[in-house]
Amino acid sequence: MKIAIIGAGAMGSLFGGKLVSAGHEVWLYDIWQDHVDKINRDGLVIASAVGETTVRPQATTDSGKIGSAELVIVFVKATATRAAAKTALTLMGADSIVLTVQNGYGNAEKLAEVVGRERVLAGVTSHGATMLGPGHIKHAGSGETHIGQLNAGISDRTRRIAALMTDAGIVTTADGDVASLIWGKLLINVGINALTAITGLKNGQLNDYEETRELMRLVVDEAEHVVRAAGIKLPYSDSFAKIADIAQATAENKSSMLQDISNNRLTEIDVINGAVVNEGKRLGIATPFNQVLTLLVHTLEKCGTRKIDP
Ligand code: NAD
Repeated sequence: MKIAIIGAGAMGSLFGGKLVSAGHEVWLYDIWQDHVDKINRDGLVIASAVGETTVRPQATTDSGKIGSAELVIVFVKATATRAAAKTALTLMGADSIVLTVQNGYGNAEKLAEVVGRERVLAGVTSHGATMLGPGHIKHAGSGETHIGQLNAGISDRTRRIAALMTDAGIVTTADGDVASLIWGKLLINVGINALTAITGLKNGQLNDYEETRELMRLVVDEAEHVVRAAGIKLPYSDSFAKIADIAQATAENKSSMLQDISNNRLTEIDVINGAVVNEGKRLGIATPFNQVLTLLVHTLEKCGTRKIDP
């Protein structure tokens, strides 16, 4: 299959690398010139616990070179999803599908506004990856991927894409309840990301202090209230316990939001805690804890890691 990846950073390169290894025609599209040049010159190097492999997808900063692709996977950060949607539209043929397993709520909706709801598949992935440098990524952890269409039900098309990804080593299940998948993962990010970004703590340290544990409980309970009011079924029964467990299981990780703040980059706060605030407004539910975290993270985005003089 001809597959285009829009946003070939850590995750886009990981998925693209696995798909090209499985024999698909893969194009990586990214605005990062050095990364694209390095891949085209020396291949894409994927490091993992078992060593390094080099794969050779085609990479470009000019999406016009790609032509139409049967499957378009969007893997930019949420701050660039609108731009990616416009690019995706230029890559669509008659039966093309756009897939997103980005974190947060609202990415699939933004893509649907531009390419049409019926063409979008969305979901979540538990794979983890980090950028080591141009043309070089680390596959940091494996896990399941779940995808589904925006309207309920599981189509043959969704099953076909799930099977194609599974064959490429990205174990994927076709699922009938995308909202449950996305909000189930979103609540984990709600409980961990902003709090680690603001405090500078690693994930596991959120459990070490009664204050951060209590804050985690307050933001997660608030988000759960909104999710249940929206009629969305969560894939676990005790949200706080689930998220505290995940913080423990990933104790040594620095969350992506903490890394973004440390590197003076914009974060995905608006599609995580900010999404809870927006959904709360829509449903008439106050979300002060998520609102405070959203405002604090935006403040950090603006002032960076600049230290205040003593
Ligand atoms: P990343 O920052 O490593 O990669 C994003 C890439 O998008 C960059 O290479 C950037 O140059 C490129 N980009 C930016 N604007 C673009 C545009 N307009 N067009 C094309 N490319 C553009 O990010 P990532 O860690 O790969 O995360 C991507 C998404 O996947 C995020 O939503 C993230 O939350 C989610 N996710 C990440 C992980 C992980 O372990 N890294 C795991 C699960 C989900």
